[in-house]
Amino acid sequence: MLKKLSDIDIQRYAHQIILKNIGIDGQKKLLTSKVFILGMGGLGSPVSMYLASAGIGTLGIADFDNVELSNLQRQIIYDQNSINKSKVEISKKKLLLLNPKIKVDVYKKKITKKNINKIIKKYDVIVDGSDNFKTKYLINDSCLKNKKTLISAALRGFEAQITTIKGWIKTYPCYRCMFPEINKNDYNENYQDCGIVGGIAGVAGSFQSVEVIKDILKIGNPLTGKLLIIDLLTNRFKKINFKKNKKCVICK
Ligand SMILES: [Zn+2]
Repeated sequence: MLKKLSDIDIQRYAHQIILKNIGIDGQKKLLTSKVFILGMGGLGSPVSMYLASAGIGTLGIADFDNVELSNLQRQIIYDQNSINKSKVEISKKKLLLLNPKIKVDVYKKKITKKNINKIIKKYDVIVDGSDNFKTKYLINDSCLKNKKTLISAALRGFEAQITTIKGWIKTYPCYRCMFPEINKNDYNENYQDCGIVGGIAGVAGSFQSVEVIKDILKIGNPLTGKLLIIDLLTNRFKKINFKKNKKCVICK
C-alpha cells in the first residue's frame, strides 16, 4: 500500500476521501488498483472517465475500432476531432488530461480466446463494455477461469441492465448462468444496433464505475447474483435475483 497521499492527492480526491466508507486508506487502495475495460464505446466512455477521476491507479482499455461520427451520440469521451482516430489512443489522451497521476495501458486489438487470459491476469477488476453476446461470453469465461470480478452491463433503447459477476464462487451465478447461450442467430447480435438513447449508456456506465469502486474497497451491497434493470422510459427499476444454473455449461 502507498505510504502517504500527497497534498495534491488530498485536494484532488477530497470529496470522496471525506466519505467514511472511503477515507485515506480507501483512496490509497484505489490508487494501487488495476481495472481493465473491454470496449471503449457507450459504456467504456463514462466508466473510464469516472474511474480515472476517482484515481484508479492503472486502467487497461481495449478496443480495435476508430471513432465514427455515429459514435458521438453516446460515446462521450470522444469529440468531433476524434473521428477516424483510434478509440484507445484518443481515450488515453483524454484520461491522462483528466488525471495525469494514473497509468493507462492500451490494447488496440481484437480480444480473443487466445489473448484474453494473459491480459485479464494483470488486473484486479474487469469491466464489460462490449455490446454483443459473443464478447460477453468470452469475457465471462475468462473471468471465471482467472477468478476476477466482472462488472457487466447491456443497453437497449431506454433500458440498461447491470450486474456484478463472481461466477467462481459456489453460490453466485456466472453470465452464462443468467443468460444461457441463445440460438446462434442472436449470437452476434449487437445491442446498439437496436437503438439506444445516449444518456442510458451514461447511466449504466456510471453504475458500473461505482460497482468497481465498491468491489475494490469491499463496501456496500454489490449487484452480485442480481440483475438490475432500469427502464428510464417508464422510470421503473427492478432487481432480479439469480442463482447458479445447474445446467450452466461452464460452472458445471
Ligand atoms: Zn455459470
